[in-house]
Amino acid sequence: MILQRTLGQPISATGVGLHSGERVRLALYPAPADSGIVFRRTDLQPAVDVRAEPSLVNDTRLSSTLVTDAGVRVGTIEHLMSAFAGLGIDNLLVEVTAAEIPIMDGSAAPFIYLLQEAGIADQDKPKRFIRVREPVEVVEGDKWVRLDPHDGFTVELSIEFNHPAFNRAPQKVKIDFADHSYVDEISRARTFGFMHEVEYMKSQGLGLGGNLGNAIVIDDEYVLNPEGLRFPDEFVRHKILDAIGDLYIVGHPLIAAFSGHKSGHAMNNALLRKLLATPSAWEYVSFKDPLDVPSSFHRLPEVR
Ligand SMILES: [Zn+2]
Repeated sequence: MILQRTLGQPISATGVGLHSGERVRLALYPAPADSGIVFRRTDLQPAVDVRAEPSLVNDTRLSSTLVTDAGVRVGTIEHLMSAFAGLGIDNLLVEVTAAEIPIMDGSAAPFIYLLQEAGIADQDKPKRFIRVREPVEVVEGDKWVRLDPHDGFTVELSIEFNHPAFNRAPQKVKIDFADHSYVDEISRARTFGFMHEVEYMKSQGLGLGGNLGNAIVIDDEYVLNPEGLRFPDEFVRHKILDAIGDLYIVGHPLIAAFSGHKSGHAMNNALLRKLLATPSAWEYVSFKDPLDVPSSFHRLPEVR
């Protein structure tokens, strides 16, 4: 039986909020089977719980932000959600002391390290996957995202920036997780932004925590970070990291082929909402025999 997973023990970290520039404390706790990923704003009195689910993603301007009916926000969840997806973690309570998850180094790697430090524990209920049965697509002008039936998990994304720093590298990447490791090939890819955007955002009181330590920053010609890029195609790899995190807000791993062009958080969320609203397009599946699981999921780390 493939079982649901949580953490072996609680663990915490401190970082900076990308938009507020404030110090944020993040604490992760094991949570019961079938509880999903729940964020808890402990800076509010009383604390407020916000469950990660597609219907609560109500702000996608700069990141994927959960917003409850009462207006309680948890922002920049996509890199943390991506790490949970990469390690196959189903249930977790995430305490956070601000309206956004800390940006860390702009990738999911610090979260992977943290989760692996805490260890991963099997639970007593079967893991539920979502198997896509029919194509689902969202199109807006020349941008699109889609899910197709596939016995595994693949992500194929392309971006289109006519800019010297981007033209030097492939702007299209396909990763088949049957052959490639999320931790090695995706988790380290950092978020990126243009210098003129950074300046504009700061003038609007946003991106106050942003610096060369937590984003790739590009001017009119070059990457400004002295250490350069972690992968030649780090930009599009980060878009894959984001998409994996955005898709995991559905609460289950997808057995599907995901693809997109010039897409982002808003379209990823629209795709999930369309999938859920089309009952014939998907089904829940569990696996009694681990050998029946598509090989894309064999790469999840062993439970220690
Ligand atoms: Zn991102």
